[in-house]
Amino acid sequence: MTRPALRSRSYKRVYRRTPGGKTVVHYERRKNTPMRCARCGTILNGVPIKDYLRRKLPKTLKRPQRMFGGVLCANCLREVLKIVVKESVAK
Ligand SMILES: [Zn+2]
Repeated sequence: MTRPALRSRSYKRVYRRTPGGKTVVHYERRKNTPMRCARCGTILNGVPIKDYLRRKLPKTLKRPQRMFGGVLCANCLREVLKIVVKESVAK
């Protein structure tokens, strides 16, 4: 059994083969993953890159204060809104 502190899933388990031929488990901290646009995949502006900041900051500092803030980038939102408006005018 591993040390209690290492049982946490905030550590990634990496299997490494030692020179002696044994396979051992190494525990590595997970890397910060930046939030990405759901449509084009670019890294979102206005959203903290560090995971722990996204947990502890107030909601208003976690994403831009507009519709789809923290989900779509500004360019994609603009394009989507144009498409929606165009469709509603055509009807
Ligand atoms: Zn986008």
